[in-house]
Amino acid sequence: MSQIKVKEKVFEPYLTAEEINGQIQRLAAGINHDYAGKKPLFIAILNGSFMFASDLFKAVNIEAEICFIKLASYKGTKSTGQVITAIGLDMDIHTRHVIIIEDIVDTGKTLSEFLPQLRHQQPASLELVVLLHKPEATEYPVDIKYLGFSIPNKFVLGYGLDFDGLGRNIPEIYQLKEG
Ligand code: 5GP
Ligand code: MG
Ligand code: MG
Repeated sequence: MSQIKVKEKVFEPYLTAEEINGQIQRLAAGINHDYAGKKPLFIAILNGSFMFASDLFKAVNIEAEICFIKLASYKGTKSTGQVITAIGLDMDIHTRHVIIIEDIVDTGKTLSEFLPQLRHQQPASLELVVLLHKPEATEYPVDIKYLGFSIPNKFVLGYGLDFDGLGRNIPEIYQLKEG
């Protein structure tokens, strides 16, 4: 792997497809063990998590369901970003064992707004499986039960994650080169 350019910005290789897959297999093994017989409902958050959700769900070998929602965070005139639901939940989660699939937790704002909405519907349990976490950037703490990688506070792309719409189709994860 060598560095790549996306929209004039230079990105350096960070995680190989093999490293990503290794963590996904480990996460799925934990879920397979913990949720056997519970028929969990996975809720994947689009767009960023589509590739992670697909690979993770293929490695889940217990009875399980999956559905998708789309959350978009946009900055209005205020400095605090606002999280809007672009595609909502069409499943009844009351009494279900729910596992949220998210690509990355950065500030934690997205999940800190969304999780209370779900808790309100009284699922039997609610946990998170997250591929990447930037602990240094997290302002709204979220409790991640299944985490792939803890990463430094640098912008990443690839494996579903975009830079201005591009880069989602790259099978590896790249990190923005600074300076
Ligand atoms: P939050 O700040 O609410 O935790 O993160 C919200 C969303 O911002 C994430 O789900 C992800 O879609 C996007 N995001 C955060 N950090 C990065 C990053 O380093 N790269 C990319 N491509 N998206 C990110
Ligand atoms: Mg996301
Ligand atoms: Mg994005």
